[in-house]
Parts: sequence; C-alpha cells; structure tokens
Amino acid sequence: MHALEATQYYFQRAAKGLGIGRRLEHLLIMPRREVKVECTIELDNGELAAFTGFRVQHDNSRGPMKGGLRYHPDVDPDEVNSLASLMTWKTAVVNLPYGGAKGGINCDPHKLSYAELQRITRAFVDEIHDIIGPTLDIPAPDMGTNAQTMAWIVDQYSKYHGWTPSVVTGKPIELGGSEGRESATGRGLAYVAAFVLKDSQKKISDMTYAIQGFGNVGSWTAKFINQDGGKVVAISDLSGGIYNSAGIDVETLSRYVHEKGLIAGFPGAAPLHPDKLLTVECDVLIPAALGSVLTADNAKDIQAKYIIEGANGPTTPEADEIFIKRGITVIPDIFANAGGVVVSYFEWVQNIQQFRWREDRVNSELHAVMTDAYKEIKAIAKSSQCDMRTAAFQLAISRVSRATALRGQENEAFCLISTPHR
Ligand code: NAD
Repeated sequence: MHALEATQYYFQRAAKGLGIGRRLEHLLIMPRREVKVECTIELDNGELAAFTGFRVQHDNSRGPMKGGLRYHPDVDPDEVNSLASLMTWKTAVVNLPYGGAKGGINCDPHKLSYAELQRITRAFVDEIHDIIGPTLDIPAPDMGTNAQTMAWIVDQYSKYHGWTPSVVTGKPIELGGSEGRESATGRGLAYVAAFVLKDSQKKISDMTYAIQGFGNVGSWTAKFINQDGGKVVAISDLSGGIYNSAGIDVETLSRYVHEKGLIAGFPGAAPLHPDKLLTVECDVLIPAALGSVLTADNAKDIQAKYIIEGANGPTTPEADEIFIKRGITVIPDIFANAGGVVVSYFEWVQNIQQFRWREDRVNSELHAVMTDAYKEIKAIAKSSQCDMRTAAFQLAISRVSRATALRGQENEAFCLISTPHR
C-alpha cells in the first residue's frame, strides 16, 4: 500500500465512526493544491542538474497551511501528498490554528555540497514564493533539511516580499528562530512516552528503548529519554545499527556522530544489522527515520509493548491492524511527533509579535499543549472503544470538519454544529 493510500485508510477508518457524510469526506481527502516544479542548478563541476520539487497544500480551513520540506532521493508526489494530509490532522489534533502542507525535493543532500544545496533551495523558492508566506503556507525543516535551509528560504523569499522571517519556522535563532525548536519534536516524544507509561503505572526509567534514526528526531528523543533514566539499547541510522544491553551512552554517541557524521563504528556498542533494529528486544520502539517500515512482514516479530511514532507514516495499515490485535499500544505520528509543529507555531507567534520567549516558557507551553491533546485523545479512545490512532484522527477530523462547515465551504456539514443560542 502506498503512503497516500495508508493515510486515506486511517482517515476513512476514523471518519466512518463520525458519520460526517461522503461529500465532506471527499472534501477533506482531496488536497487543495499540488505544485511540481523543476529546480535546475549548476553543480560545482560546472554541469547542469535538474531536480524536481513538490509542494502539496492539503487544507486551510483552520488557518495557514503548515508543513516541512524534505530533501531525499525517494521524494515523490504520492508521499508528499500523504505527508501534507497528515499535517492537516496533526495541527488539528494539537489544536493549532493551522492547516496542513508538505514539500520536498528529490535530491540526495549527502551527495551535494553546501553551495549546491543552497542553489537548489533558492531555485525552489524562486518557483514557489507566490504560494507560500506567513498567512498562506509556512514551511519548516524535515528529513534532509535543517535551520540553514530555512535561513536560505528566508533570504530568498525576502528578496521578493521584503524582510519576512515568519515565512518559515525552524530558523536559526539569529534570524528569528525560537529557543527550543530544534529539540522540540524529541522533547514532545519524551513527554508522550511519559504520559503513556504513567497510565500503566510506569516511568521512563523503568523501560528499554530501540530507536530507528539518529537525526533531529531520533537523537533528541534518545537524549531526553536517557536524561530521564531510560535505557536506550538499540539505535540505527543510514550507516547501520548499534546495540548495548546495558544502555547506550547517548551523549557520547552524539559527540561521536557530530565528529564522524554517522553512528557506524561507535565503540560504546556492538554492531546490529539495521533490519534487526525494529524487532530487537525492548519495551518501547520509536521509529524516527523513514515511512512504511512497520509492515505485515515484520509486525508479528515486534517485541516492544509500545510503539511511539517519531517518523511520519512508519506503520502500514496491515501492521497497524496486527498491533491492535496483539495489544501493542501505538501512539500515532499525528500526535506523537507533533512537538515540532507546536514549537514552530510558537516561533511564528514570536515573529509576528516581534517578542522572544525564553526556553523554559517554550518547553512548559509545549508540555501543556501535548498534555491537553493526550487527555482529549484518551477520552475519545475510551468513549469510542477504539485505538489511539483512530481516536486522534477522530479528534482532528471533527475539528477540521467544523471549521470547514463554519466557513460555509460545505453546507451538508452544518449538521455537525450545534445550533447557537439566540
Ligand atoms: P533527519 O534527516 O534529521 O534524520 C533522519 C535519520 O534517519 C538520520 O539519522 C538517517 O541516517 C536515518 N535514516 C535514513 N535512512 C535510514 C534507514 N534506512 N534506516 C535507519 N535510519 C535511517 O530527519 P528528521 O527530521 O529526524 O526526521 C525523521 C522523521 O521524523 C521523518 O519521518 C520526519 O518526517 C519526521 N518528523 C520530523 C520532525 C522534525 O521536527 N524534524 C517533526 C515531525 C516528524
């Protein structure tokens, strides 16, 4: 099943229980706009190279669209479409005044120089600057992009529209970025792990963890879990996997990766075949790299009792059904990894107000947003007797449906809104 089909499956599974009607269902599934552009640049060796860039704007009923920009060789319209839709549901689950979008360029950032990446980014902004902006669509970092990429976007966009740092989030602090943004997705994941474990009278320090991916999301998640006393026994990245039953020293690993670029050869753990990472013995599995890695083929071999989705779309519907049957608790991406977009929202708010928040304020507001969303998802899961993913989708779909109806975009949907007092 393709990524887009999987997202639509989850949407429909949840929408069925809400009875929103086929017309509204159709409206909420279809993206508002899909853009495909060619970004041709001169490589450092003087040759020309063409890359394809995508931006999918899925829904803006609740506010400007928001979503990351991914640089990866496998980026395709189907995947970007699926990720844009997930952003609509994610911003709605945590109740941010945003819709959803996503973008990507099919390039391999590991094979391009700093100067080439800068030229690709500027070429992409030249093509899409008219359809992004602080009240339209606000990109942010995702796989293969970072604060530096966002800085180039600010610079190029500002050439057309005047100084506009709020066109993107996840910027360097010097250009209006927020304290706490870089670590926010990992911090949010660690909060979520604590909420879920507390419901089983457990703490982060009682458990063992396996984490796929040691980039932004994986490395910060590992750091926070380690700081709270959790034992991270297995980690993998592009270069392979590592395992230490006594727990990996995440701070030392981070320093190693900072120096060498990848985790392979880390002396504080034994090598682990990357395919084994997902099925290794652990209590909590955190996929924090690619999509569609938990499938019908490996779902029965997963040993973890909890799966907390750091990556977007890591679980195929077939695997999800197996996890439900096996009683494995899955905390879905649209909630589990929402910490990044929550602090992106705080960054946008700070830019608009031209006022900086201290990091302790950012972190405590993030905690409050994630706590509220968790309580709401849990209440729906209890009342509808469903899994956490279906509950999260139901919360999100009902919010987006109401906004769509209130704006008068779909008359049928008015049945969803209680009659106001006169
Ligand atoms: P990143 O580029 O910083 O890191 C990706 C990591 O995955 C790297 O360590 C890379 O080596 C590893 N990786 C790539 N292929 C792999 C493979 N085959 N096996 C194991 N590891 C592999 O990206 P990121 O920002 O950490 O994003 C990771 C995931 O989290 C993506 O699905 C992204 O959409 C999602 N996400 C990111 C954010 C954010 O704030 N950055 C927020 C929400 C969700």
